[in-house]
Amino acid sequence: MIDNELQLDIPRFTDLPLRAELLHEIDELGYTHPSPIQAEAIGPLVEGRDLLGQAATGTGKTAAFALPMLERLAEQRPEHARGDSPFGLVLAPTRELALQVSEAITRYGRGLGARVLTVYGGAPVGPQWKALQQGVDIVVATPGRAIDLMNRGALRLDLLETIVLDEADEMLDMGFVEDIETLLDATPDTRQAVLFSATMPRRIETLAQKYLREPITVRIRREAVPEGEAPKVRQTAYLVPRTHTTAALGRVLEAERPTAAIVFCRTRVDVDAVTETLTARGLRAEALHGGMDQEHRTRVVERLRSGRTELLVATDVAARGLDIDLLTHVVNHDVPQSAEAYVHRIGRVGRAGREGVAITLVPPSKVYALRAVERLTGQPIEFAPVPTAADLRSARLERTAASLRERLVADLLDDGTGTGAPNDDDGVRAMLAGLVGEFDGVDVAATAVRLMQAAAGSPDDGDDIPVVSAPRGGARDREPRSRGGAAGMRAPKAGTTRLFVNAGRASGVRPQDIVGALANESNLSGRDIGAIQIHERHALVEIPEHAADEVLRSLRGSTTLKGRRANVRRDRGFAGAGAGGGRGRRD
Ligand code: AMP
Repeated sequence: MIDNELQLDIPRFTDLPLRAELLHEIDELGYTHPSPIQAEAIGPLVEGRDLLGQAATGTGKTAAFALPMLERLAEQRPEHARGDSPFGLVLAPTRELALQVSEAITRYGRGLGARVLTVYGGAPVGPQWKALQQGVDIVVATPGRAIDLMNRGALRLDLLETIVLDEADEMLDMGFVEDIETLLDATPDTRQAVLFSATMPRRIETLAQKYLREPITVRIRREAVPEGEAPKVRQTAYLVPRTHTTAALGRVLEAERPTAAIVFCRTRVDVDAVTETLTARGLRAEALHGGMDQEHRTRVVERLRSGRTELLVATDVAARGLDIDLLTHVVNHDVPQSAEAYVHRIGRVGRAGREGVAITLVPPSKVYALRAVERLTGQPIEFAPVPTAADLRSARLERTAASLRERLVADLLDDGTGTGAPNDDDGVRAMLAGLVGEFDGVDVAATAVRLMQAAAGSPDDGDDIPVVSAPRGGARDREPRSRGGAAGMRAPKAGTTRLFVNAGRASGVRPQDIVGALANESNLSGRDIGAIQIHERHALVEIPEHAADEVLRSLRGSTTLKGRRANVRRDRGFAGAGAGGGRGRRD
């Protein structure tokens, strides 16, 4: 909630041109005064003006465009054709943001009975299509899916009254510019257009010049986080595919070896699963969640305080109010829901001048959320590669060497004889002397270390964790170590381009299916087809650039894979090897 207690000189919601049903919901939500952006934007937007707004998350921008959209919907609903052409369209960069926006609009529009639908990539098209056919007032969509639905004739934009681009800079960063322009071009000239962006790079201005008509401009800077709220903490993020998060976490924690850490998870089920995985790696981890009784929770926290356990795996709710002075690390198994929640979590470390460490495991689709954190705190989050199994092995060996060295030195200094000569009360030296007579001395020592490691039980490092890359502009990446592997994202070879197919492992698609389909339906031969990467819900396939247009023409946008239609198009992240792209798509 935005604290507007002190903004008594700005208008009240009742001064704004909003009808009773909307005011009622606002009142129920406990908003007392409009935030500055709402105060500036709502009036002109209700009048139908276009708007170019610079505002970040947390300024109240969602209500700033949602309330006028709902007000206009209520005004025009009698004339607006019902049926399958929506009144408003909101484009958002990611599924998460789309859901958040949609939830807010639904809430504000409750009294008006507004029908709001969210559509995004990665989910089956069928139900979204059906819902659109039943008639909706406002569609909140990620650009890729909006295009898909429009191309299939499911999303009609010819009677659209208003379109909002939310977090436009993010959408452009993610390579959605073509999709956005196509969508804007498909809307009537008379529609209202609203563009919100946290930053105003030249590309946004160009887009605004092309599509907005005499827009009013509003610029709201988010207030800086007060001193002390964003502590000095070393913040590191590890980019991993969602399915490998827990495995990667085990490795990172083994490499970091925190003295006392809280590992935040989203749900109770995650807490249990993560605790189990970490324990299996030999880390001392304990679960803390709301399902445990108070006494049990207190005991667990006590064990962390006293150093008997090193990791507390918890949900936000369970960790609320926990104040552990000794905490060295805050670990985000999942990216927190909001930038504010992140700041709140990491505020638990780095107190009283001590160094704190914040670690976040982030799937590529959530890099945008970390960028929002960077904008909020003004502090960089560095991306680091997940330690490989080989990194961990060499770290373990270094630790073994350090313990041996320490022990050797201590024994030399304290041999009990005062002469500095090694003692052999237990006969170990004599036994080894015998073996060294028979075998090489280093071989003997190496075998002893291996036996010791086996007795201690080495953790299982599991499968290799695929390297993924962040969308461009998303990270101050340190170059991840290349480990090959089919899931690694790399630029296509010179002279080739990459096609994006919207079916992957989840539909049972294998490389040979793609070769078969392309060779069947176009004039490509198997030899022309280059590297194929199969991901969970999509696949990328390299083909010669000179053949691309012809292939796309013969496929007419789709092919059949495993008995189902799959869309095929140029991978927008890679316009061709010569263009030097470097982004994966994220819809
Ligand atoms: P947003 O910038 O749209 O992401 O909104 C940030 C948060 O502020 C959301 O949780 C909204 O529910 C809340 N909010 C929006 N407008 C107001 C308002 N006028 N007063 C109090 N809270 C608000």
